[in-house]
Amino acid sequence: MLSQEKLLRDGKLHIFLLGSGGPFNNEKRVSSSIAVIVDGEFLLFDVGPGTYRNADLLRLPVMQLSGIFLTHFHSDHIGDLGEVNIMSWASGRSKALKVYGPRGVDKVVNGFKMAYEYDMGYRIAHHGVEIVPPEAGVLISKSITIKDSNERELCYDKNGVKIYAFEVDHSPVNPAVGYRIEYKGLVVVITGDTIKTENLVKQCKNADILFSEAISFDLLNNMINLVKNLNPRVAKILTDIQNYHMDPVSAAKLAKEAQVKKLVFVHITPPLLNKNVENIYLEGVTDVFDGEVILGEDRMKFSLEPS
Ligand SMILES: [Zn+2]
Ligand SMILES: [Zn+2]
Repeated sequence: MLSQEKLLRDGKLHIFLLGSGGPFNNEKRVSSSIAVIVDGEFLLFDVGPGTYRNADLLRLPVMQLSGIFLTHFHSDHIGDLGEVNIMSWASGRSKALKVYGPRGVDKVVNGFKMAYEYDMGYRIAHHGVEIVPPEAGVLISKSITIKDSNERELCYDKNGVKIYAFEVDHSPVNPAVGYRIEYKGLVVVITGDTIKTENLVKQCKNADILFSEAISFDLLNNMINLVKNLNPRVAKILTDIQNYHMDPVSAAKLAKEAQVKKLVFVHITPPLLNKNVENIYLEGVTDVFDGEVILGEDRMKFSLEPS
């Protein structure tokens, strides 16, 4: 494993999948989170339940965590916000943690702050302000407003790393955003949860890596057929979720139209229990997109080097 210092300073853009699944977890995949480590900064895109566990297992430099970018506020994208904040602070983070997100992020962040107020107090009383400086444990919300729904909005610009937010369509979840990360000519795009739109194609244009959400409607429909008589409630939810996500072939069309180099599936739903099920999930993808396709898995690593 690369040393933490090398990860932070070797000039490459490192990406780790900390959560490659959707709301239904299994051993291989917990809910959504992607870590980006570049030029001394550690950034997280979504913090679904299980994010911190995977960051810890990989021994990532959590004390350098400086920003979290939320795509929207479904629980499978925000559940670990409190854990990530407290544990990175207890591990030695020396600065307050900024949490970027669409309108509503202030309320979400304030709620987490309130929930963890006692815990922060216990730790300060127990270890002292030198060890756990109170000001470093603070979450600061940064609300993103996208002025033109067909354009991306610069929301972070530091040491050559530019992060843009763009609007996605995950209605009735509104607003919801995706993120485009640019660094010395490299482009990485994270779709967040969305259907395929013209604007999404535009925002993914020429990405070196596209991390696209995709849920398999074929697999969900099989599940619906199995449970519809036994459990109509579950069948309804599994039906409803299909109108605000992409399936893998739609994501492949997105990758093709946007001319991306590599497509990595994330938010993989439902859990893929064996090779056969993986094949059903990927069916038709390579007929559409002829670039590299990767089925994301927790703790996978990608490194890009600026040319
Ligand atoms: Zn989700
Ligand atoms: Zn969602």
